[in-house]
Amino acid sequence: MGERKNCKTCSKTDCSAKKRREGESEEEFRERQRLAQRLCGIKRRIAVLSGKGGVGKSTVAANVAVALAAKGYSTGLLDVDIHGPSIPTLLGLENQPIYGEKEGLIPVDFEGLKVVSAGFLLRSQDEAIVWRGPMKANIIRQFVSEVLWGELDYLVVDCPPGTGDEPLSVCHTLECVDGALIVTTPQKVAAVDVMKCVNFCKTLKIPVIGVIENMSGFLCPKCNTVTYIFRSGGGRELCKQMKVPFLGVIPIDPDIAYACDVGKPFVRDFPESPATRKILEIVETIEKKLPTQKESDEQTKEACL
Ligand code: ADP
Repeated sequence: MGERKNCKTCSKTDCSAKKRREGESEEEFRERQRLAQRLCGIKRRIAVLSGKGGVGKSTVAANVAVALAAKGYSTGLLDVDIHGPSIPTLLGLENQPIYGEKEGLIPVDFEGLKVVSAGFLLRSQDEAIVWRGPMKANIIRQFVSEVLWGELDYLVVDCPPGTGDEPLSVCHTLECVDGALIVTTPQKVAAVDVMKCVNFCKTLKIPVIGVIENMSGFLCPKCNTVTYIFRSGGGRELCKQMKVPFLGVIPIDPDIAYACDVGKPFVRDFPESPATRKILEIVETIEKKLPTQKESDEQTKEACL
């Protein structure tokens, strides 16, 4: 896994890391090549975005990644939510040390899923990370570039919330993001956040896989019916206006809250839950839109370069 690809001997003639760009210094070119070599074995890069924190972005990212890995895809999950890394909690990996070798960081194994989280750098779960501006960009870059992912079908990236510098750094460092999942809540105020996320993707030329409305209604564990606390249908309507796919709703479900709190992915522990069905549908959409077979892979890579 520690083996680094070599641009000089690589047969990919269309790769942007083959040649020095105009105005690029030798040092910048080497750095870009180093990064490209690290990411070279990843077939599909998926960014999970949200306009603000607390909407279930990490929950969606973790469960999509677990479901992809369970389907037999070689999958990585990168949690770059540097202010509130919740992936360790969601997967029961709190206080998990992360090891490195000379070549880079070795992801933590979760039932075959390769996980790297900013949370693994904290000494304790309740410690806060206070990153200053340049450090933030640096840690993001390091995270993305210094991990020994090896060959991956999918890398699911839990991005920092919002549409500012931090998610921008993540997407720039990833170079080519094949698709974005946008997570939102049903309140009217969330609509503005979705618009910002969609525009963020448009500016960076990232195809939007779709928008997921989380915490939409409450699933009663006694009678199994969903009560809509906020007006429903807003997400679908907005997606129509913005011309991006709407992937559906996930209700507030006490089983999800429980699974998240005890560090177990609900897609594995609650196979019958409506949320699990929705995540599996999303995974099918990802398989269709971002297949990992070679021919279509080459097409997307070309489009990204
Ligand atoms: P974000 O990444 O957007 O900050 P998280 O994924 O960490 O949000 O979710 C915040 C909390 O909300 C989680 O601890 C989880 O327990 C809870 N949660 C997320 N989605 C649901 C849901 N559909 N039903 C119940 N609880 C949920």
